[in-house]
Amino acid sequence: VKRIGVLTSGGDAPGMNAAIRAVTRVATNIGLEVYGIYDGYRGMVDGKIKQLTRESVSDILDRGGTILGSARLPEFKDIEVRKKAIEQLDKFGIEAVVVIGGDGSYRGALALTDMGVNCIGLPGTIDNDIASTDETIGFSTALNTVVDAMDKLRDTSSSHHRCSVVEVMGNRCGDLALFSGLSSGAEIVITSETGFDESEVLDRLREFDVVKKKNHALVIISEKITDVEIFARKVSQFTGFSGRATILGHVQRGGSPTPGDRVLASRMGEKAVDLLMQGVGGQCVGIQRGEIVGVPIEEALNMPSKSRKDLQNLFDRLV
Ligand code: ADP
Repeated sequence: VKRIGVLTSGGDAPGMNAAIRAVTRVATNIGLEVYGIYDGYRGMVDGKIKQLTRESVSDILDRGGTILGSARLPEFKDIEVRKKAIEQLDKFGIEAVVVIGGDGSYRGALALTDMGVNCIGLPGTIDNDIASTDETIGFSTALNTVVDAMDKLRDTSSSHHRCSVVEVMGNRCGDLALFSGLSSGAEIVITSETGFDESEVLDRLREFDVVKKKNHALVIISEKITDVEIFARKVSQFTGFSGRATILGHVQRGGSPTPGDRVLASRMGEKAVDLLMQGVGGQCVGIQRGEIVGVPIEEALNMPSKSRKDLQNLFDRLV
């Protein structure tokens, strides 16, 4: 392998730039040429491709977002569209590609590998929803952002006997909700794993108010579970708290990556280049019990999601 490509795909995440930098620096330092593919698979099909040098990735380690841009291209499932992408790669002499993204992006990487272009996936998503890695690039930063917001909401909620109902991202993975709940001392966490029984949650809130005499309550709820505006109105109606909904939204996707994310992205970027140099494709990189590993994408996509029963129990014992 002499020339590799790198792209970011799907939802963006802080730390993607750190991964692009690591791939570019590790590869160029061993004499490879690196090409940046802009706007994910869309740019691959359209030939939006430019060489990256060690200078082109200077000053990006601390920047959120992705300098390569990201996009979604549902048509990439179509083999004819992928053939066009491979024609572009051939035109630029790109023999292998590092794909930074979520599990959708992994599927694209696997499909390309099956067509003869070795691809390695790196887990870039704030959702931490990839089973083959204990942590994804961007999760630590997003968690920091959520906890920072929770700390602020607690201040104002206490002053007004309020219940803040806070919706966080996670794309059906409860990690951002549960970890931020543990870190911020929330009263209630609701995820797809805990389930949502509205009247039971209202009962618990009344107990915080009447029995435990709390002057505020923080409820964290994963996105895609319920309408938090409507639920907050019910909190006002049926409990002693005044309910207020906060949807954190896309602020969770931004910001300068934490040192944890920068180091993780750098380690994973190194591993991706090493795997490609060994002629490996169709794998994704993960961190498992502190060790950076390569896992076949096929296997990664079929792994059951991580159980958080132990952390959920801990949360319950801390309330
Ligand atoms: P994420 O990578 O964050 O999970 P998506 O699910 O939107 O985000 O996937 C990103 C892109 O990966 C899609 O827009 C599409 O181009 C590509 N992709 C997703 N699934 C497949 C598939 N089964 N085959 C080929 N490409 C896919």
